[in-house]
Amino acid sequence: MNILMAASECVPFVKVGGLADVVGALPKYLAKIGHDVRIILPKYRKIDGKKYDLRALPYRLQVKVGSDIERFRIKYCVTEDNVTVYFIENMRFFDRPDVYGADGSDYGDNRERYIFFCRAVLESLKALMFRPDIIHCHDWQTGLIPAYLKTNLRNDGFFWNTSSVYTIHNIAYQGGFDADTVVEAGFSWEDFTVDKLEFYNTLNFMKCAIALSDAVSTVSPTYALEIKEFNGRGMEIVLNSRKEDIYGILNGIDYDYWNPKTDPFISKNYSPSDLAGKKICKAELQKLCGFEAREDAYLFGCVSRLDNQKGFDIIIDALYSLSRQNMQFVILGSGDPYIKRLLQEAAYKLKGKAAVFFDYNEPLAHKIYAGSDAYMMPSRFEPCGLSQMIALKYGSIPIVNRAGGLSDTVEYYNHYSKKGNGFVFNITYGENFVQTILKSEKIFRDKANWNILMQNSFACDFSWNKSVESYVKMYSDVIEKKRRELLFAR
Ligand code: ADP
Repeated sequence: MNILMAASECVPFVKVGGLADVVGALPKYLAKIGHDVRIILPKYRKIDGKKYDLRALPYRLQVKVGSDIERFRIKYCVTEDNVTVYFIENMRFFDRPDVYGADGSDYGDNRERYIFFCRAVLESLKALMFRPDIIHCHDWQTGLIPAYLKTNLRNDGFFWNTSSVYTIHNIAYQGGFDADTVVEAGFSWEDFTVDKLEFYNTLNFMKCAIALSDAVSTVSPTYALEIKEFNGRGMEIVLNSRKEDIYGILNGIDYDYWNPKTDPFISKNYSPSDLAGKKICKAELQKLCGFEAREDAYLFGCVSRLDNQKGFDIIIDALYSLSRQNMQFVILGSGDPYIKRLLQEAAYKLKGKAAVFFDYNEPLAHKIYAGSDAYMMPSRFEPCGLSQMIALKYGSIPIVNRAGGLSDTVEYYNHYSKKGNGFVFNITYGENFVQTILKSEKIFRDKANWNILMQNSFACDFSWNKSVESYVKMYSDVIEKKRRELLFAR
């Protein structure tokens, strides 16, 4: 199959959240099983052209955004896994310090930036003469691509064999804008109908993609159910109209990258059969945080976007409630300035017990996963969550709220049956994070049980191999559907 991944983030080039990990890993595993997969991204200033040896292609292209003509170039590189990555270069929209905006607020022209990107992706394919069987679009920033294919480009011979699939990584970010976006994006008012572009008299990028792509997926089976039933942020009706075409596919983890045995960022490598290195990682992390380097202190980690979704109110409450226990807490995060202030205050008041770091720091993230005993993730909702899966690989036991992908990946440890890989509580049923932490501490202090729990955690397999099969199945279903439609049309 020829597959194009269109996205706004991708590891290692640019990352804001888990989306980047998925777009970085999925193509690699698809290429391994013989598909021609290419990725297309905006060329943000953050992407270091020299480091990745980006080369410019000789085309000078242009698309319209509103009444403006926007010119762009395509740069490209080929990764060591043999995946070609294209970058759309336009100074006006992408040559700026951040990806989506600064200090927790979005750039005012994100609508124009991603209209431009969607149009530029489709225009580039023609210049590149690359006709994908599947354009796999991710999140709202690429949501207009399926819409163009089914409206403005529906009679364009270049794309007659191309289908689109759309993955929702987080339904909270939809890209909803005023109805005049129809004009800005170059659509016709004729297509501004409920079954196509219109969403309560607005134009919502995500709605367009759900309604008009050939299949929709989201990143865990439980989240796929939740968004159809009660957590769809207003999209429930649209999702239910596509019920038959919605797939819930759990994200995988790239174990070539996230592996304590080979991780270059951590103080000492370790493996399930030799945990001496994990003790060293813990001691180093304690030093880094200004904590007492005590092996018996129960050390919690958290690496996250600072966002209400992630349950920081619950975490901050726990920091204060547990401040007299033999526990330590380290948090790395960037995002919402209000959450940052509350965390700063907590770290100041709980010096020696709680430490916070506010940048985006990949090496420190690895040190936290490796050095912590347990991992806090009380997300109020969680489409999939990669952090808990990474934590499991590093033997940092996740303590999570039962939501979305967290329900699919973390099972309460039962010290009778010795089954389970973490601790789960349920906010909806009024269960409490602090109580769950205290229960988990009992297991932490019972070394025999804790060792079994850690081994259960190491034994989890969230590698991409299984998820890739599910994606291939979705692509094949879509291609088969298209083949039938074309046959029928004849
Ligand atoms: P989301 O996609 O909602 O942000 P996930 O758990 O799916 O949450 O993925 C988060 C990813 O981003 C993980 O790989 C995590 O380690 C990483 N991450 C989040 N914040 C930071 C940060 N400040 N520094 C380094 N890595 C971070």
